[in-house]
Amino acid sequence: MNAYSFFNPEPAATAERIFIETETGLRYRYADMREETARIANLLRSLGLQPGDRVAAQVDKSPQALFLYLACLRAGLCYLPLNTAYQRDELAYFIGDAEPGLIVCAPEREALYAQICHTQCLSLNAEGRGSLSDRAAEQPDRFDDAQMGLDDLAVILYTSGTTGRSKGAMLTHGNLTSNADTLRRYWEIEADDVLLHALPLFHIHGLFVAIHPLILAGARIFFQSKFDASAVLRRLPDATLLMGVPTFYARLLQEPTLTREAVEHIRLFVSGSAPLLRETFDAWTQRTGHTILERYGMSESGMITSNPYRGERRGGTVGLPLPGVSVRIMDVNGRPTGIGKPGAIEIKGPNVFAGYWRMPEKTQEEFTSDEWFKTGDMGQWDADGYLSIVGRAKDLIITGGYNVYPKEIELALDALPGVVESAVIGLPHSDLGEAVTAIAVVVDERLQEAELIAQLRQNIAAYKVPKRIHFVRELPRNAMGKVQKNMLRKQYGI
Ligand code: AMP
Repeated sequence: MNAYSFFNPEPAATAERIFIETETGLRYRYADMREETARIANLLRSLGLQPGDRVAAQVDKSPQALFLYLACLRAGLCYLPLNTAYQRDELAYFIGDAEPGLIVCAPEREALYAQICHTQCLSLNAEGRGSLSDRAAEQPDRFDDAQMGLDDLAVILYTSGTTGRSKGAMLTHGNLTSNADTLRRYWEIEADDVLLHALPLFHIHGLFVAIHPLILAGARIFFQSKFDASAVLRRLPDATLLMGVPTFYARLLQEPTLTREAVEHIRLFVSGSAPLLRETFDAWTQRTGHTILERYGMSESGMITSNPYRGERRGGTVGLPLPGVSVRIMDVNGRPTGIGKPGAIEIKGPNVFAGYWRMPEKTQEEFTSDEWFKTGDMGQWDADGYLSIVGRAKDLIITGGYNVYPKEIELALDALPGVVESAVIGLPHSDLGEAVTAIAVVVDERLQEAELIAQLRQNIAAYKVPKRIHFVRELPRNAMGKVQKNMLRKQYGI
């Protein structure tokens, strides 16, 4: 067994079905995927790579990039995807830390890798061509899949790491298969589904969530090299599923061609990786008649909670614990919090990772003595068991001894007329320890800071009201749509 053979249990039944279709109209059937991944797996073996060895890939999105990943699963090699934006110093750290036996990169990056390490390199460009594809073409199209255990390492995902060194989360074959199976069932993904895939392939969202359950179902995937609102809208009428980060939905709403008719065939819109604004959630329902399903997860654990496919999808919440995943919210004394009381989110289940690569102490710190993983997120339950995320634990603001949850202030600020969205951070303050500070995007530049502060004072306790509100045109976001509060802290801190 390995995760690939689990995803693909009945080769004959799906052989002729389309697996991937590209923007240029190239189509790969499931049978093609099996042959291509077998060729690459044979190549990897011929290079001397053995089960457990790491294969680092810093490649543009293409069907071949996905085949490389699947080939690693087949050969029992540990796949290590790297963000295409990473530069020299970051790469030197990842390669030094993970010690891969092979690097696959864009042809123009080979020289850079040769300067930072002596690891063998193959190339793969955005069209899926390069020495990897050339050499794989000479290999047999059948491969005897490696027999792996559920606890064997399948992937290392480096966390984005806003503080300190980036950590490599070790995901096992069992982690991948359990989450894939759960999501396929929970979201009722079937063979006739067509997913529009506009996410990057170096992150858990695009590589796992938007791929594994689809393969498991024998469904079809439309690949778009990157997110482009008008290109997505052109293709949506042929799709049944869209998985995106909140930014996708906010941008699509700006397109006049987003109408009920354009999304008539869609069965499900899923959002995750960052909080979906209530405003976007409501506007989407109004405009399209569809309720976005928001879910919550992280690199270390795959998906943790989801709003139900059948049943009420509640805006501003990330839904209910997925089947088989246990979630608890703990107060500072290590006791479960009550309804509506924020605390630290801890989880347990077959989806939870095996620890951080070569960081046993860090791993130990992140688990409780009774083996729950501390997600680092803060959340609270509502009376019906729906979870809301109130922020990252490290974003919690302590001002004059009081705890302030940024999310609460952001919601209060966003609710004021003229405010589009906001991010609330704590900045060092000589008297209070930290001062609540807001950075806001407003529709009307004439809005006054003092006026907003005065309005907030009527809605929330004085200690929670931002001392300053800075206006910006756009909040800084990373590729997955997450607001980069560390950048804001740097910019506005002293
Ligand atoms: P990553 O490991 O890059 O996927 O980041 C995981 C983090 O993203 C989580 O720990 C959360 O802080 C955040 N996150 C993911 N999904 C959501 C969501 N639906 N709402 C709020 N935060 C989310």
